Amino acid sequence: MQIVIVDSSRVVLQIIASLIEPRGHDVHAFTDSAQALQFLAATPSVRVLITSVEVRPLCGLELCWSARLLAEERRPLHVITMSSARNVRSLAEALDSGADDFIEKPPSAEELNARLRAAERLITMQEELIRLAETDPLTGAYNRRAFFDRARMAAEQGGRPGRISAILADIDHFKRINDEHGHDVGDLAIQAVAELIAGDGIGGRLGGEEFGLVLPGCGLAEAIARAECLRESVQALCIRGSKHAISLTCSFGVSTWIEADDVPALIKRADIALYAAKGRGRNCVVPYQSDAGLAVAS
Ligand code: GH3
Ligand code: MG
Ligand code: MG
Repeated sequence: MQIVIVDSSRVVLQIIASLIEPRGHDVHAFTDSAQALQFLAATPSVRVLITSVEVRPLCGLELCWSARLLAEERRPLHVITMSSARNVRSLAEALDSGADDFIEKPPSAEELNARLRAAERLITMQEELIRLAETDPLTGAYNRRAFFDRARMAAEQGGRPGRISAILADIDHFKRINDEHGHDVGDLAIQAVAELIAGDGIGGRLGGEEFGLVLPGCGLAEAIARAECLRESVQALCIRGSKHAISLTCSFGVSTWIEADDVPALIKRADIALYAAKGRGRNCVVPYQSDAGLAVAS
């Protein structure tokens, strides 16, 4: 595991690193707690933070709290505080500040490594729970909630006109595929389309046979071109049916970021454009254009 350790003494850091490095852990040691926090923010793969309570400029408890906020719900981070003063009050304070565990300083190799094994079990379980909560089981794509979450995160960083766009896709006459070939073949069709959607960008299954793709860094023209490529790829798919191979098509709605926008509004506009694509005969790409109405791109 990637482990960050923080203590004001280089000697203590070296001792702790020498206890855990032989077990295969990747240790990043800091005497400055603000630098440690910066490193944690920039390195999402860190799974454990071990910090002394007596560190600066942030004290160990402030560091715990800040690390906890930074980790949010989708990043497992196990926080262990260390102090030479083991009393009920400091233990309670550490746990209330977001720590998961508390050890006496200096820790023994046996105790520290046993606690890290326990941490690893919890982290593995948390990672699996996060994966299950974010993933659509049929396709492995992000589910609706995770899709909107990831899109919101991307928009926080790059939500500017010309810098982020969205595509919504819906399989045409999908009910017929189910009715004529059975639900299992319908499932294969959904999986095949999901695989195509999951390229660059943030792709997700928003509902039965409806998919979303948010494209950070893309303006409207590029997003329309991407949707057109996807439309052609879906049309070229060949799904193994019960009697013979079947083909299918999708309709696409495209929208792009405007001033004072947000992700739900961006997706809503793509949905309006998708609805228009259905009305215009399906198997086409329609961009949402507020001033000129809805124009057919293909
Ligand atoms: P349109 O071209 O207007 O989109 O028509 P459609 O038939 O694709 O749309 P409609 O909304 O009428 O039907 C969608 C169908 O998708 C209905 C539902 O039974 C089916 N469906 C939803 N989820 C699943 C799934 O996980 N697997 C399968 N096989 N079918 C699903
Ligand atoms: Mg449909
Ligand atoms: Mg639909």
